[in-house]
Amino acid sequence: MAAKVISGKEVAAQLREQIKNDAADLTDKGITPGLAVVLVGDNPASRSYVKGKEKASAQAGIYSELCELPEDVTEKKLLQIVEDYNNNPSIHGILVQLPLPEQISETKVIETISPAKDVDGFHPISIGRMMTGQETFLPCTPFGIIKMLEQENITMEGKHAVVIGRSNIVGKPVGQLLLNNNATVTYCHSRTKNLSEMTKQADIVIAAVGRAEIINDSHLKEGAVVIDVGMNRKDDGKLCGDVDFEKASEKASFITPVPGGVGPMTITMLLHNTVLSAARIYEKSHSQ
Ligand code: NAP
Repeated sequence: MAAKVISGKEVAAQLREQIKNDAADLTDKGITPGLAVVLVGDNPASRSYVKGKEKASAQAGIYSELCELPEDVTEKKLLQIVEDYNNNPSIHGILVQLPLPEQISETKVIETISPAKDVDGFHPISIGRMMTGQETFLPCTPFGIIKMLEQENITMEGKHAVVIGRSNIVGKPVGQLLLNNNATVTYCHSRTKNLSEMTKQADIVIAAVGRAEIINDSHLKEGAVVIDVGMNRKDDGKLCGDVDFEKASEKASFITPVPGGVGPMTITMLLHNTVLSAARIYEKSHSQ
């Protein structure tokens, strides 16, 4: 069976049209959604992600502001900048690009962002709300994965989902969102024994490992849905996922490519969350 390729690019383009319309409606009401992005140091990957976010914001009619800080910036200074954005009425979403240099505690920075503007969904309050099924900002990559499944009419309820990876930004929250959607969830990680025995039981496999092409057809049952979150560089410099796309496509029913799969969805959900934040702030100020 040849798998259907889920184009994250296409799903993202459809969603971005809606986001653009929602941003324009808010602008007409006098509140242009605003996103502040803080970039510390000169990590080329971080810089490229930030540029992508700025460009996508502009295309969606979202005001964005980039705050660039030197590698040796103090934690105190960065926390003050975050506080200033918390109090800035033109800013509805705050994103501090990770990783941060070692003199700065990522935990402290994330916890300083107001949960009302936490469009990355990394604040412990946002995570707690997600776990208890309350309204919050969902973390962008996991949220994007769920949106892709929904757009392709892939049922999660009653399915067995195996998530490979347990990071706080991808693995753990995507498993939680699948659970919230009534899937039965198994987490695998570096200490899991017999990984392929686990993944072979899965109706839905989410690979969020960061190891080039470690998942192939031998890890899958016939007809599995395969979502590849990984972004890895091969020896020849080419970008690839955690899944061997060619081999896995022979067994999967649906599969996401790398690039052009989960990546475009992540930025899209950031735009979505920023517009949602502006809408919430608008509603709050007009309900008083
Ligand atoms: P991470 O923090 O390094 O976590 C990787 C996870 O994989 C860990 O839980 C680790 O287990 C597990 N793992 C490592 N080797 C394994 C193995 N051989 N078998 C089974 N599990 C193994 O990475 P991350 O931040 O979650 O990111 C994962 C990948 O997604 C990376 O390639 C990253 O670049 C990509 N990513 C893509 C997007 C996007 O928008 N497309 C967004 C975020 C991340 P332990 O916990 O036991 O160490």
